[in-house]
Amino acid sequence: MPSSIARPTNPTLWTLTANPPPEFALTLPSRCDVAVIGGGFTGLTAALHLARAGRSVCVLEAGRLGAGASGMNAGFVVPNFAKADPATVRQKLPREKADALLSLVGAGADQVFATIAEEGIECDAAQTGWLQPAYGDDMARILRQRVRDWTELGRPVEFLDAREIQSETGMDLYSGGLIDHSGGTIHPLNYLYGLASAVTRHGGMIRESSSVDRVERHGGTWRITLAGQQVEAGSVLLATNAFTGGIASRMGRTGVPLRVYQVATKPLDAETIARISPHRRPVGDTRSNLFTYRLDRDNRLISGGMAINPLGAFERVGRAVVDRLASELRLPRHPGVEVVWTGTAIMTPDFLPRLYRFGDGFFGGIGCNGRGIAMTAQLGHLLARLALGEQAQSLPIPLQTGRTLPFHRLTPIVASLALAHARFEDWRAGRL
Ligand SMILES: Cc1cc2nc3c(=O)[nH]c(=O)nc-3n(C[C@H](O)[C@H](O)[C@H](O)COP(=O)(O)OP(=O)(O)OC[C@H]3O[C@@H](n4cnc5c(N)ncnc54)[C@H](O)[C@@H]3O)c2cc1C
Repeated sequence: MPSSIARPTNPTLWTLTANPPPEFALTLPSRCDVAVIGGGFTGLTAALHLARAGRSVCVLEAGRLGAGASGMNAGFVVPNFAKADPATVRQKLPREKADALLSLVGAGADQVFATIAEEGIECDAAQTGWLQPAYGDDMARILRQRVRDWTELGRPVEFLDAREIQSETGMDLYSGGLIDHSGGTIHPLNYLYGLASAVTRHGGMIRESSSVDRVERHGGTWRITLAGQQVEAGSVLLATNAFTGGIASRMGRTGVPLRVYQVATKPLDAETIARISPHRRPVGDTRSNLFTYRLDRDNRLISGGMAINPLGAFERVGRAVVDRLASELRLPRHPGVEVVWTGTAIMTPDFLPRLYRFGDGFFGGIGCNGRGIAMTAQLGHLLARLALGEQAQSLPIPLQTGRTLPFHRLTPIVASLALAHARFEDWRAGRL
């Protein structure tokens, strides 16, 4: 492995290029209106809405800010579901509920960029639009329908023909594609730091190194136990995503964890950028072995991948991802790997976001399914509304009890098999 590739314990691209991290309280309050467990996008967004509404809110984060997927992701802000078309959502839910959920997810990117503007967050936010090139004529037909569905829902989505996609990507293998003008990119760790600063500015409290073990009903309130200390809260929000340690196991075991690798190249030259990304739009195509890329502010390409076999994957995936970028984008020279990092995302069995009710005033939410930045902006708001006492019936995501997946420990193997199958299908259809 080239020595320039950072090991997983080393900094990510985001920690290497981040603003100074905000500083937080060292003491714990004995009581607060709402305790939020987990300081990722979901937890901090919920806390921000609650603090803005005048509630005393305390965020308890097990590690440092950015320890979870919110610090590890690639910063593509994409307002739709990775694995569910509007048509699929409408098959799963009654039409009214489906459209309410689609409207929620469709507005997710706008919500992210609005919060960034309202709170003055410096995170290289660029609402340039998100491109989804279609591989093959069948997929182009599916995307045309997707465009019609999103347009009907009032979203700024268009179909671009093959020539237009070529001028956006420099690639001539696509049969057209979709652009959602509300998508874009951010520096995720700076967005997270900005959300955290906004929470404290509005009177909320954040405490790092505070892993919550237990949440129990005690009299009329919730008693939260961490490292021998206790906090009493009127409501509790669990925002721990794929984690399964301590109280997080209540939610983390309801989905399938997926290890995702992210890779950043060394910076590209201006001429290449003008050819492959003239409007700096993030790209994610339709192949099962997804091809994605975006630029960071210093013109590094960022892409990602997964591994069927986790052994030695860090080095192998890092090199394979950059080789693929060089070959698919016909880069004039191999750009070299600058940094590789990895994180764990979570997929729910139906690929849709979840809201859980664990008790009276104790809620949780998982938004990821690959497009978590836009979704968590909405999910955090819904969790805050629940903590503020809003009735669940008025929300676009139904409340569930949170059933643990049987054989959760084996789900990474199932995910590896699914990936192997998807690659085989791509190979068989000549898409690799
Ligand atoms: C490698 C990777 C790339 C991705 N790329 C993209 C992308 O480009 N675009 C996109 O939209 N989405 C992407 N995602 C998904 C997106 O990052 C997530 O959906 C989103 O960050 C989830 O936010 P969250 O707040 O729910 O969870 P997290 O950010 O995981 O936060 C959960 C927090 O809970 C804390 N915690 C856990 N247990 C406890 C406990 N017991 N007590 C207290 N705290 C606890 C953790 O330390 C963590 O900070 C990616 C994910 C990964 C892993």
